Amino acid sequence: MDASDVQFFAPGQPLCVLTTQPLDRLLDYRAPEGGAATGAFVEVPLGPRKVLGVVWGAAQGDYPVARLRQVLRVLDVPPMRDELRAFLLRAADYTLTPLSLMLFLATRAPGLFHGPAMIRVYRVGTPPQRMTDARKRVYEVFDGFGGAALTVGEITRAASVSGSVVHTMAAQGALIEGEAPRDQPYPRLDPARGGKDLSEDQSQAADELRARAGDFSVTLLKGVTGSGKTEVYLEAVAECLRKGRQALVLLPEIGLTEGFLERVEARFGARPGEWHSGATVTERRRLWRMVGEGRAQLVVGARSALFLPYRDLGLIVVDEEHDSSYKQEDGVLYNARDMAVLRASLAGAQVVLASATPSLETWVNAGSGKYHRLDLHARFGVAELPDMRAIDLRGETVPHGRWISPSLQQAVQERLDAGEQSLIFLNRRGFAPLTVCRACGHQMQCADCDARLVEHRFLKRLMCHQCGATAPVPTSCPSCHKEGTMHPVGPGVERMEEEVRALWPQARVAVLSSDLFGSARALKAQIADIAAGGADIIIGTQLVAKGHNFPLLTLVGVIDADLGLHGNDLRAAERTFQLIRQVAGRAGRAERRGVALMQTHQPDHPVIKAILSGDDEGFWQAESAERAALAMPPFGRLAGIILSSPNLEHAFDVGNALATRAEPLHRIGAQVYGPAPAPIARVRGRHRVRLLVKAAKTAPLQAAIRAWAAQVKLPNDLRLAVDIDPQSFW
Ligand code: ADP
Ligand code: ZN
Repeated sequence: MDASDVQFFAPGQPLCVLTTQPLDRLLDYRAPEGGAATGAFVEVPLGPRKVLGVVWGAAQGDYPVARLRQVLRVLDVPPMRDELRAFLLRAADYTLTPLSLMLFLATRAPGLFHGPAMIRVYRVGTPPQRMTDARKRVYEVFDGFGGAALTVGEITRAASVSGSVVHTMAAQGALIEGEAPRDQPYPRLDPARGGKDLSEDQSQAADELRARAGDFSVTLLKGVTGSGKTEVYLEAVAECLRKGRQALVLLPEIGLTEGFLERVEARFGARPGEWHSGATVTERRRLWRMVGEGRAQLVVGARSALFLPYRDLGLIVVDEEHDSSYKQEDGVLYNARDMAVLRASLAGAQVVLASATPSLETWVNAGSGKYHRLDLHARFGVAELPDMRAIDLRGETVPHGRWISPSLQQAVQERLDAGEQSLIFLNRRGFAPLTVCRACGHQMQCADCDARLVEHRFLKRLMCHQCGATAPVPTSCPSCHKEGTMHPVGPGVERMEEEVRALWPQARVAVLSSDLFGSARALKAQIADIAAGGADIIIGTQLVAKGHNFPLLTLVGVIDADLGLHGNDLRAAERTFQLIRQVAGRAGRAERRGVALMQTHQPDHPVIKAILSGDDEGFWQAESAERAALAMPPFGRLAGIILSSPNLEHAFDVGNALATRAEPLHRIGAQVYGPAPAPIARVRGRHRVRLLVKAAKTAPLQAAIRAWAAQVKLPNDLRLAVDIDPQSFW
């Protein structure tokens, strides 16, 4: 398959179609009346159903032409461009994902191909003879929208009138009926509106990015939180828009988008298109279409925005590029940061990777010259980095069942006295991570997963963080049946709230944890309230680590800095470093110097020392030397194979069969480890067994894995997933 030759197929001529059905092959059809070209979106019959597809090229010829069915219709959307077809092919190859699944990712705009393309709209006509209050309100609505054409729904909502008022006015000529496309273009963004006056560091960085616009390149934009990276990459966006091309800004969290959208509006005079799970179906359909027609200049979105059908993509910004949420951990296992680089290379686009704490991969690539690197040194204006200090828990007495040390307590008290905010950080959701019977030691476990149940007092239930199953908190032990012996062990954020309220009953306390918000909107509102000074003490999970700006916050207290250091995850050190640096960066923006206090039992641990000393470069150097010595990523390559089945034996049988037929891997010099039970050995009733493949950086890993896996026949109840460049090893 080659994505680069576009062909036109005359009516009746055989062609092949890629559908979103999980078939893992292309299907032959005959071209419809009027013919069809490569890339056209089509509807085709498949058994008794009609399914969506894309004309992919000449027929495969594996089915007699005489018996081929005909394409039903060509859909009224711009055809898929070569660049996107090439991207889907390459991404499928890289992640070892069926191409049909890739097409599925690229067409996730509900209702795209259904319903009318045109809708009925109204404009102002000759004023009616009898002007009732209701009719007056209708006219006022049109005034308010500058005389634009409006739908019945828009008029009735804005004027609080019934549909019959509109229809009567139309019948009398007071409104004029017409048609308009269902999906409206986005308002133009104006790159010529001035941005902020940039500091010298900033304008130098912006100049360099502008100079590189128009071609493929990757630049790491590194600077601490608050150093003004966003202002700098908005200048790259402006340059891209000036060139008439489209820009995409990826953000790791929906909670972050609102503030960003406001900044875009201030800079360019209008809001961009939004693409994420919180956007409405209508908005997604509109954006998908307008992106394809080139009538949406800027998209702000989550990782799946990478698969939109841009007409001419000129820039991709990946903000907080190190964030682990860019890696999709189920379905198609892809890393949006890496796929952004791939797509940009095919589109001739610029990539900007922004972070205060880049991933080791990016840091190494920037060091070796594969990527460019720009540094913003100071925080913008007068704000400085917080003062970082450890609280050595070996030298402090913390009362039983409490987690705030006397030193931290005193620091919070000082902030309260000064009218400033404190943040208590603990990366653990819920009330307590463990519920144990005092009499027999029984621990509450999920029935379907290899996981402990976490108490959530807010929900008044125990919850499994793997599968989401919940159960009531038992009043007696399920094992020894004694009454009143079950008790919570260890803290989660909800328990910290209890402790904080006991210590400071007068303080206004806000808890930020993903479970506590029913909607993205509620979370946004809470964040805005905190930023405006609506809380004295904030208690949060990693949700607070990401880019929120709390100007009154001057103290960050990390309850357990050692939390991420345990376990032998390849990235444990890197993650802990990034997370604590990010959280500490919340303290002391604006004019107030902040303090970050880290409670630890291991103040001499190299990671803790690196965080305290502020020597980022030293940390990355040490970490990369260690990885290089072991030929671990980014100096070597890994792939995880996850076998899951309700039947443990099946999973191990397949695992063993793979392990003993490793020839195709040995041929490229790769090693196989396992099979072994996965760290989380059961999820949703399925046993999980892992193998790990390790290869040299330049080895043709994907081809070898494909040949290797093809040797083994899989039982029906078994799922095999390949995780190229795994980020986590659960
Ligand atoms: P980062 O993206 O590195 O965290 P931001 O670009 O968000 O930093 O900047 C931090 C704060 O400083 C923001 O409130 C921003 O509006 C402000 N800021 C940054 N650069 C400038 C500038 N040149 N002029 C005025 N304010 C600025
Ligand atoms: Zn579970």
